[in-house]
Amino acid sequence: MKEAHDILKQYFGYSEFRKGQDVIISNVLSGKNTAGIMPTGGGKSICYQVPALMLEGVTLVISPLISLMKDQVDSLTFQGIPATYINSTLSAAEVEERMEELSYGEYRLLYIAPERLESPQFIRYLNSLDIPLVAVDEAHCLSQWGHDFRPSYMGIYDAVNQLSSQPVILALTATATPQVQRDILNHLHIPPENKVLTGFQRNNLFFNVLKGEDRKRWIGQYAGRNSQQSGIIYCATRKEVENVHDYLVKKGVSAGKYHGGLSDGLRLEQQEAFLNDSIMVMVATNAFGMGINKSNVRYVVHYQIPKNMEAYYQEAGRAGRDGVESECILLFSPQDIQTQRYIIDQNVMSPELHHNELQKLRDMVDFVHTETCLQNYILSYFGEESEDECGHCSNCLDDRESEDVTVKAQMVLSCMIRMNERFGTSMISGVLTGSKGKKILDFRFDKLSTYGLLKGESQKEVGLFIDYLISEGIIDVEGGSYPVLKVSSKGREVLIGEKQVTRKKQVTPAPALSNEDE
Ligand code: ADP
Repeated sequence: MKEAHDILKQYFGYSEFRKGQDVIISNVLSGKNTAGIMPTGGGKSICYQVPALMLEGVTLVISPLISLMKDQVDSLTFQGIPATYINSTLSAAEVEERMEELSYGEYRLLYIAPERLESPQFIRYLNSLDIPLVAVDEAHCLSQWGHDFRPSYMGIYDAVNQLSSQPVILALTATATPQVQRDILNHLHIPPENKVLTGFQRNNLFFNVLKGEDRKRWIGQYAGRNSQQSGIIYCATRKEVENVHDYLVKKGVSAGKYHGGLSDGLRLEQQEAFLNDSIMVMVATNAFGMGINKSNVRYVVHYQIPKNMEAYYQEAGRAGRDGVESECILLFSPQDIQTQRYIIDQNVMSPELHHNELQKLRDMVDFVHTETCLQNYILSYFGEESEDECGHCSNCLDDRESEDVTVKAQMVLSCMIRMNERFGTSMISGVLTGSKGKKILDFRFDKLSTYGLLKGESQKEVGLFIDYLISEGIIDVEGGSYPVLKVSSKGREVLIGEKQVTRKKQVTPAPALSNEDE
């Protein structure tokens, strides 16, 4: 590994490998197919760039991000590493020229999009080159269970297999659940022992979930207070981006906007302005940011809940790539769950995938309701267990006292059982609060012994308590568009008194302030 160290120093100016980089590089150099799962900003590129400089021939890098290839290649060229790309932004003559230069061995790295491998002609051409290594960037795109499925990723293995130089495959990703990790290994024929997982933890990120805020007012004040800092505000829809952007601009905040409904030219202009700090805040849909390599983003606000934890962590993870403390704030309002559900329903997919998407949305909602360490929730979602709490997320810093709510939980659970576990939150909370709703009377639920047990509380409060029990795994949610709540095995332990339930004391929200800003 001495040579690898020397290259790291000579070309990149770093004296040490980061966690995982050395293992991945030494695997690759000894010819082992490998998967590197590292957090955003963990330094994945070095894992193929250093070997590319050590191995004979040209390393092929497969990336879904055509818009970024030029930047990546420019920066490598600037560092004295000969690299090029071939993609649809080039003219036929340019492609031709680059292919010829590659044949003369002028480059150490070639970036392409996966679709190019679908062309038998291109494969024939690649076969005329010596390709020791294929790096598959954003490898989670090959899994249907991931959050950015690209069908063309499914053809990568077969294409690579046709190459006579029999290259080593290196798969890289920052966001992969255990299920997606399995898909990556299976698909690309990577033995499980060659999976290098450095951990998803990002100690410099301060996670914060805010509920019940007047969001617009809040974002106006927050962006105003942090006007010298770079930040991204994610909204779920284009309409909301426009709305928040206009509001911030009116308030004098230096804000740009980015979504799929804007022209290519305008998007590029806004992105450039953000990258060179002439716009401090970018209000955007999830169209913004895949691969945006801006290191000094000090905060990422989710103005609305994203569709799943992968999307959330990838977007939130764009904060603090330079390792400096940064904030990731999620503003939660229950009606946004409907927006996401609607978006999921609009996408045509198999019933199985649809079900999976809804489950992922539920996991996202559980993140909002959990009262344990937010960083740990994220880690456990990605299959990594951590005993230590981060100590600086909004839950870790929540110093409200906890109270024992076991009896109340038992009331909810036994009510569910009496209703044969066939209903969702609103019916259950309706029965518990003694609602005289038609459906409740039709089912004669007013005759149940649990009817009206929580009469003193509003249906909304009981609903939130149920959400809490879901986030704690005491209640399971099943079914698709009409979810049904079931008592989990943990819930059964609670019912028979074998497990206690505690919850932070709830403060009654202050009456809403009049909204002069609207
Ligand atoms: P990723 O693709 O995993 O998000 P990058 O490859 O873009 O991350 O690397 C993130 C940052 O970390 C880059 O600025 C990179 O130059 C830097 N970096 C990578 N490896 C090292 C290292 N060994 N020492 C110091 N900085 C590093």
